[in-house]
Amino acid sequence: MSIKEYAKEMIERDQVFRDIAEQTETLWINDKLLPFEMTDALCQLVVTDEDIEDTERRLHKFAPYIKKCFPETAEDDGLIESPLADIPEMKRALEEKYGTEIPGRFMLKMDSHLPIAGSVKVRGGIYEVLKHAEDLALEAGLITEDDNYERFADDDMKEFFGKHTVQVGSTGNLGLSIGIMSAFLGFKVKVHMSADARQWKKDMLRSKGVDVIEYEEDYSKAVSEGRRLSDLDPTSYFVDDEYSLPLFLGYAVAAGRMKKQLEEKGVTVDGDHPMIIYVPCGVGGAPGGVCYGFKRLFKDDVHIFFCEPTLFPSVLLGMASDRFNEVNVSDFGLTGMSAADGLACASPSGLVTRICRNLLSGDFTVRDAILFDYMRMLKATEDIFIEPSSCAAFIGPLNIMKLDAGKTYLEKHGLTAEKLANATQVCWATGGRLVPDEIWDKYMNTYLE
Ligand SMILES: *Cc1c(COP(=O)(O)O)cnc(C)c1O
Repeated sequence: MSIKEYAKEMIERDQVFRDIAEQTETLWINDKLLPFEMTDALCQLVVTDEDIEDTERRLHKFAPYIKKCFPETAEDDGLIESPLADIPEMKRALEEKYGTEIPGRFMLKMDSHLPIAGSVKVRGGIYEVLKHAEDLALEAGLITEDDNYERFADDDMKEFFGKHTVQVGSTGNLGLSIGIMSAFLGFKVKVHMSADARQWKKDMLRSKGVDVIEYEEDYSKAVSEGRRLSDLDPTSYFVDDEYSLPLFLGYAVAAGRMKKQLEEKGVTVDGDHPMIIYVPCGVGGAPGGVCYGFKRLFKDDVHIFFCEPTLFPSVLLGMASDRFNEVNVSDFGLTGMSAADGLACASPSGLVTRICRNLLSGDFTVRDAILFDYMRMLKATEDIFIEPSSCAAFIGPLNIMKLDAGKTYLEKHGLTAEKLANATQVCWATGGRLVPDEIWDKYMNTYLE
């Protein structure tokens, strides 16, 4: 059956897909979520705990270099990390405005404020660029594994990387991360930007000497063209958001880092103290890696939900249809532009839709208009600014209590009122720190239907 025919059948069969076709906010519960133990062996075939540990080790090796180049990381000794904040005032405001209780402790993981490029893409993007630089330098005999990696700041290293190109396709934030880090190391950089990408992100990259190539088409096109052009050039390396394991690993490291922060804040996560995490989702790379890392550490005590724009529920559809990366949101009649520029991906990552098929709890869709309301509310209550895409996470804690699918999920997993009172709910803020002031003013004054 063609995907279009299959999509039609799904829409006829199930209310969730009718909601999606009608662009109504909905919640898809993953029908193939398995108890963690049942997924363990197969998952480790693709990404092992050792791979994640190796990633953390490599980031530690680069820490002296990062600290030297980006003084804002000095506090964390060159490790690139973001705060975990309680947001009780936001919780109260959401409860009041939307008439829904949000049980348990309510927190914001502020990847919106990560050093260097101010978005979750810093985790995967910077890691992949550093790893590539290390691979090249080792191969050329410019460093050994035992060297102090501050060496990467030396002029001869920059000169060497200048003979190499890094390319990436992006809706904006991945381009910023890859672009800023690669340019810093000395690489030539080409960023292929989709039509949804914001002008200020293109301007910022150009100001750093990055070659920005603009497309009138969507994100999938920017990626496929970038990949094709990079493959033609033997000195070019393509950071592939749809398939990359290093990116995935960079994101997965978040879990171990946040475990420490939770402990510092006195948060317990166990069978009696569940944790629910909501992550804004585009192509799936960042939320997929985050999801994977958390499931490996907290197993069935953590529940991960993704949040996608009503116009771009590509990861949801890729998983629900089991057609993975073959799906395009247009198969379900969805076309158009989203104000959630960071999430505007029409087709999902093949890697993430597969590896998270038995790990993800579900996927919420959210209307563009409400993102700006959440954004204003967070600013007013907690004095925290995050970009509209990033606000998609707030639909989760509301609709899990409101929608029947959410209530059913909670019941099925024994998340009783008593347990939820002991729970921690975390919204993942995925971007915002680099947004220029004049753009903030514009966002703050955006009211959509
Ligand atoms: C990229 C991005 C996401 C989601 O990441 P994907 O890897 O595309 O799923 C979420 N929020 C913001 C602000 C982003 O830029």
